Amino acid sequence: MDGCRRSYLSFSLNIGIAIICALAGARGAQSAGARAEAGGPKPAARTSRSESPAPGSRRPSLVVFVSIDQLRYEDLLLLAPELGPGGFAGLGEAAQSRYDTAITETAADHATLATGAWPAVHGIVANKWFEGGEEHTSVADPACPLWGRPSGEGRSARALRAPTVGDALKIATGGRARVVSVAMKDRVALLLGGTSADLALFWDDEAGQFTSTSCYLPKAPDWLIHLNAKHPLASFADYVWTPSRPMGLLASYSDPEASDVLPQNGIGARFPHPVGQGDASARLGLALRQTPMATTLVLEAAEAALAAYDLGSPPPGAPADLLMVGIPTIDGVGHQFGAHAPERIDALLRLHDELGAFVARLRAKLGARVAIVLSADHGVTPIQSELKKLRVEVPALDRDAILAHLEQGLTQRFGPARQSYVDFFEPPSLSLRREPRGPPGAGVPSHEALLQEAAELLRREPGLWRVIDTRRLLDSQVEMSAAPGYVQHALAPGRSPDLLLVSQPLDVVKKSADAADHGTPWNDDALVPLLLDTPGFALRPQYRGGFVLATQIAPTLAQLLGVSPPAAALEQPLLERQDPRR
Ligand SMILES: [Zn+2]
Repeated sequence: MDGCRRSYLSFSLNIGIAIICALAGARGAQSAGARAEAGGPKPAARTSRSESPAPGSRRPSLVVFVSIDQLRYEDLLLLAPELGPGGFAGLGEAAQSRYDTAITETAADHATLATGAWPAVHGIVANKWFEGGEEHTSVADPACPLWGRPSGEGRSARALRAPTVGDALKIATGGRARVVSVAMKDRVALLLGGTSADLALFWDDEAGQFTSTSCYLPKAPDWLIHLNAKHPLASFADYVWTPSRPMGLLASYSDPEASDVLPQNGIGARFPHPVGQGDASARLGLALRQTPMATTLVLEAAEAALAAYDLGSPPPGAPADLLMVGIPTIDGVGHQFGAHAPERIDALLRLHDELGAFVARLRAKLGARVAIVLSADHGVTPIQSELKKLRVEVPALDRDAILAHLEQGLTQRFGPARQSYVDFFEPPSLSLRREPRGPPGAGVPSHEALLQEAAELLRREPGLWRVIDTRRLLDSQVEMSAAPGYVQHALAPGRSPDLLLVSQPLDVVKKSADAADHGTPWNDDALVPLLLDTPGFALRPQYRGGFVLATQIAPTLAQLLGVSPPAAALEQPLLERQDPRR
């Protein structure tokens, strides 16, 4: 592989050699892997340019889906004067897309985007859930160890109960089409790609570089080693985040004096933000995820993957390749500074610039053969100080305060628990400990009695609109079918919490470490933009002006890829051919 490594030094000048090396590297690596056949690019059968779909066919040979964590529909309306006539990243005018579900969180919503199903079917009910008496994070899986971690720490998308659009493409083409996902967050890369992807690439905070698991490839391919070597974590030691626009412009869209910001990882409350601080620790690896640098890193990794796999030149038997990209910056910034902070506006405008340049390079390379779809996993609820200034007051819903009230109320009612009454509280999900006072008997309440009392206590919290006993609904088809869609869609057998807390509109149960949060079915969290830059395909007239459902995105990606929708994607695709004769 040394020859290949040398070739990679001239990566940008000699893409052809680089691709051959990437393919050779992946092939060599595959021989050692348990899933070798599915583990890397498929070079031998790769088609030539002349075999690619003819330009006149106007069918994409590459479909790129970009997910922007926490991008609100409102963000693109607000910033329209700064975006220019091409719109956000040059991708045109935004349509509205809604999540009709009670828990709007990164893992659940990315699984919805990828599968076209709701959590009730795909099973990813939240970032974390309680199953079989234990806490599970959505992508934890010791069976798929992270590269270079002898500890056995692993990740996968195996918790998905429904196939992703990437899985559908792989199944339809016998594995020929290539599917690659790139994101900072492991859950985003894994859940967007699915288990059958060629590679799902994500950021390792500790190592400060992109990584994946042995379930995709036994080790990092050479092109990725080259990419990671370009900027080791130490190269960000002096990184200071400064505004990309004059502060006066950022201030016209934001509140530079917002009082209740909660910056994390020591990066400070106001510009300029010292992210690097001279060190190269895991703190910096994590801090980068919450700054505009994460956008730069993800797009660079996506382009490196695109070149290494030669995405857009699918092999015979595959109509198109699929690239999924997940960008975390807006979410990381929004949690710390709120929806309307200068930092979030700056991050949005920087994203517009960088993503616009990425799109332009894709177009220059593939012309009308690339279709680009952009959406988001959720938005964010405004922070209380922003609302209060406008005389819009909602009760504070702090996770730790609610937990303390609940423990106190249950202790008063039933006596002290051996440990605690609450076993799991990741808002808006809450589960009670089984037998917190020992086996039920004389003077010791049953789980049902505890649950009923807990629900009653929580309903007294100002700001909580509904406290839903999920087990009752999951046990009764009749009661479930009478529940509103956002409840039906959110609950999955075996994984839903005992109680689901739904805050009133403009309110959210916030974790103490964050200035702002999301997780509700209301528009601030649930209404996101949808951008379609899809040559040869246009939004069907019936979807113009209203909103579409987030479950319509996966069947739309399948439509662009030229395959049937994934198995559990039951909604209509959004597009029509502009010239069906072709
Ligand atoms: Zn978030």
